[in-house]
Amino acid sequence: MFRRIFGLLALALAILPSVRAWEDKGHTIINQLAAEAMPADTPEFFKKAATAGLPYLGPEPDRWKNFRRGAANSLYAVNYPDHFMDMEFVEGMELPESRYAYLTALATKGVKAKYGIEPESVGFLPYRITELTQTLQSQWRDWLAAPTETERQKAEKAQIEQAIIYTAGTLGHYVADGSNPHHTTAHYNGWDVKVAPNPKGYNTEKGIHRYFERDFVEAFVSVGDVRSLMSPVKPVGPVFADSLAYLRETNKQVVPLYELDKQNAFRAEGEVNAEGKRFVCQRLAAGASKLRDIWTMAMKGVPASDARN
Ligand SMILES: [Zn+2]
Repeated sequence: MFRRIFGLLALALAILPSVRAWEDKGHTIINQLAAEAMPADTPEFFKKAATAGLPYLGPEPDRWKNFRRGAANSLYAVNYPDHFMDMEFVEGMELPESRYAYLTALATKGVKAKYGIEPESVGFLPYRITELTQTLQSQWRDWLAAPTETERQKAEKAQIEQAIIYTAGTLGHYVADGSNPHHTTAHYNGWDVKVAPNPKGYNTEKGIHRYFERDFVEAFVSVGDVRSLMSPVKPVGPVFADSLAYLRETNKQVVPLYELDKQNAFRAEGEVNAEGKRFVCQRLAAGASKLRDIWTMAMKGVPASDARN
């Protein structure tokens, strides 16, 4: 009996909608397009991963999120807030580069007293992007320096290549989350009147998150739609500041998203809404372009000014 109840519970948890992600299709598209758009001098092993390895890893951190979802789960607790940052709560704040100092800063600022949320619920997205980018830089640095004279050394270099693909692929997930307006706002699943007034009558119902990032993408978006909207290569600055600026840019699209939603632009049923489709594809293309630029920057290893250890 207990096993049966447990089985049903596990099933229910497994089919619960996962919130706060571009879902499998959007993440796969972003990783694939970024990989295809890498510069000509990209090492062959990385280029080859564009066909399967990197696209497969796009949804990887969501797989962790859905593992024993809702159960007492250390992985869930640490992973979930890595996928977003509600920028309204950090407006005007100078953010420190360590996630621990950031938690302290939020506690000092009194987000709990002001909005009734725990500091960790504000989200860590730019921290996660920065931590993984620096991991990737460290792995490329090792790859660039790795000797290949003996069989053992060759095997070690092949291992570094696997590590690079894994880090780059999972980093892709978070960069992609950063192009989704819902991942940069407290209004992530319906306008939240506790955070901001709603004079224009934006949708306050739960569900918008899911049909915007999942149902619509599933129904109407193809890789080709997004590829043609990617922007030219742009250098990436110091990664933490760059990530924050990227999220602030995405956050500017929150109101346009809710405006379009008022016209039912993101409904997956019936005819596709052309403006809704353009908006979604532009967001996905912004994610793929940013990811290509971060991967390219990391491939150069560690900037000379940082290469002290
Ligand atoms: Zn995510």
